[in-house]
Amino acid sequence: MSEQSTILIVDDELVSRYTVEVLLSTEGYKLEFAKNGEEGLKKAVESSPDLMLLDVMMPGMDGFEVCQRLRSNPRLAELPVVMVTALDDRESRLRGIESGADDFMSKPYDRAELRARIRTITRLNRYRRLVETEEKLAYLANYDTLTGLPNRSLLLERLTQTLSSAKRTKQNVVVLALDLDSFQIINDSLGRETGDNMLKIIGQRLTKIVERLGATVSRIGGDEFIVMFETDNIVKDVSEMAQCLLDNISRQITLNSHEIVVTSSMGISVYPADGTDGKVLLKNADTALSRAKTSGKNTYQFFTTTMNEVALKRLILENQLRKVLSQNELQVYYQPQVESDTGKIIGMEALIRWQHPELGLVSPTTFIPVAEEMGLIIPIGEWVLRTACKQNKIWQQAGFPPLRISVNMSSKQFQSPNLLQTIKDALTYSELDPTYLELELTESILMAEEGDEINNIISLLTELRSIGIKIAIDDFGTGYSSLSYLKRFPVNSLKIDRSFVKDIPADNDDAAITKAIVALAHSLRLYVIAEGVETQEQLEFLQSQKCEIIQGYYFSTPLCTKDMTKMLEDVGDKILR
Ligand code: C2E
Ligand code: MG
Ligand code: MG
Repeated sequence: MSEQSTILIVDDELVSRYTVEVLLSTEGYKLEFAKNGEEGLKKAVESSPDLMLLDVMMPGMDGFEVCQRLRSNPRLAELPVVMVTALDDRESRLRGIESGADDFMSKPYDRAELRARIRTITRLNRYRRLVETEEKLAYLANYDTLTGLPNRSLLLERLTQTLSSAKRTKQNVVVLALDLDSFQIINDSLGRETGDNMLKIIGQRLTKIVERLGATVSRIGGDEFIVMFETDNIVKDVSEMAQCLLDNISRQITLNSHEIVVTSSMGISVYPADGTDGKVLLKNADTALSRAKTSGKNTYQFFTTTMNEVALKRLILENQLRKVLSQNELQVYYQPQVESDTGKIIGMEALIRWQHPELGLVSPTTFIPVAEEMGLIIPIGEWVLRTACKQNKIWQQAGFPPLRISVNMSSKQFQSPNLLQTIKDALTYSELDPTYLELELTESILMAEEGDEINNIISLLTELRSIGIKIAIDDFGTGYSSLSYLKRFPVNSLKIDRSFVKDIPADNDDAAITKAIVALAHSLRLYVIAEGVETQEQLEFLQSQKCEIIQGYYFSTPLCTKDMTKMLEDVGDKILR
């Protein structure tokens, strides 16, 4: 900004112009002159003055009109105007105010007054510009002008603050470096401007995502962005963030009628495992980023020390689990349940299996908890329910004696508000008679403490029972095993957990617990299913306790549909073993 203020004097009288020049000659202003209104407007555009001294009485376009035109021109609307009128011409001053003048002076000029007025206005003007410039400089020092995102220096400042608060709150701080794959190619082939526009769009997308997930984003150079956030659950939050970023960035962008899809790679470092200093964390995230790029792009990598094997495996699992339903990788296996005194198959439990092309067969004990945390258990559970009901109906239609099918319910599913409808829909879809459906709930589902919650559970169970559906408590004995809740809830049966069955009859404690559970169930008029029965001795002990139903490898492992069909064909109404 130049220190010298420019003053534009618009006056038709030569003498007046000369007078002003003389009066202000010692003040150090740059003076511009115009002889009439038109010229005044033109020079106002050309010389960007700090102040216009405008004579009212001029032939042609008078001062009022000049002022009005200035005010309607966005570039000149804010230009300070001092209007020069004849002495004590009140009416002209009123009109001047209407046309937008800021101040008035009268002719002939008073030397002191002229200097003082002009000095005040130009000084105010200079001050305003100074403040604006400082703000601009501060902005430039901290923000990236293209995307409006914080730049590296502001990021480091914020990171330092976040780290010191994380030290106190014992939180983890995640630094995720994100870089667009093949951005250089887009820049080279479609031009820099298109590249810039794309960065702007990516910046906006990132801002939207990270704000939703409680993080911040900065742009630290070219096509590299940094996402930062605090968390106490690294595995869950990082994978959610990374997946969300991967998905959103690769959404199509239309630029100058080009449809562009760009993917991204990410490197992740975490405080405190990968460093306690902002710069170190950034460097380590960058190292991980390079590794993500070489490992095939459109993916993310951790700076090694962060994540132990388990966490990494789980992240891979989560990534894969999202696609599970659409890629038909799930199957339902069926394990027969046998009546203990007759040896007849009276039902079966539906057990989910995940056959993954690379990971192989993934156990439900591994992926169900992950699916629960991700909310994916709802669609997965619904799929199992429909598949199992339908398959059971198919066996009935094929002429096999009707069997009951037991389907496991996770507590997340049980809490979902649509559960009743989902079950009814599955029954309608499969045309299965509800009396051939049993739901296996875990003890934890029934452990609600609030009165309202308990009432909701009771009314849901009552409604399910009234349709004809049976309710079993799975893994009984591993939870809180409180007698009182069993009395409260309308259930049909208990499944003794495998861990008790495992060591009977040899282990005295387990034998005593098993005895007690069976007795307890019978006193509540519930029947008992023993799971995990593998040996003749276990079977005999359970038979001696009048445990009604037996399930376990002793009779059969869980079988795929084809093998289960074969077993039904082979066994028919006959006794197993
Ligand atoms: P669970 O409901 O207690 O199922 C019984 C588990 O014991 C099954 O394991 C079964 O294969 C296994 N098992 C059966 N007989 C024997 C035996 O004689 N010896 C031994 N050692 N094991 C036996 P699986 O199929 O791996 O399922 C594990 C758990 O995953 C299930 O425990 C259940 O909690 C859950 N799960 C399975 N399918 C589903 C499902 O569709 N939805 C939900 N929410 N959970 C499911
Ligand atoms: Mg079960
Ligand atoms: Mg069980």
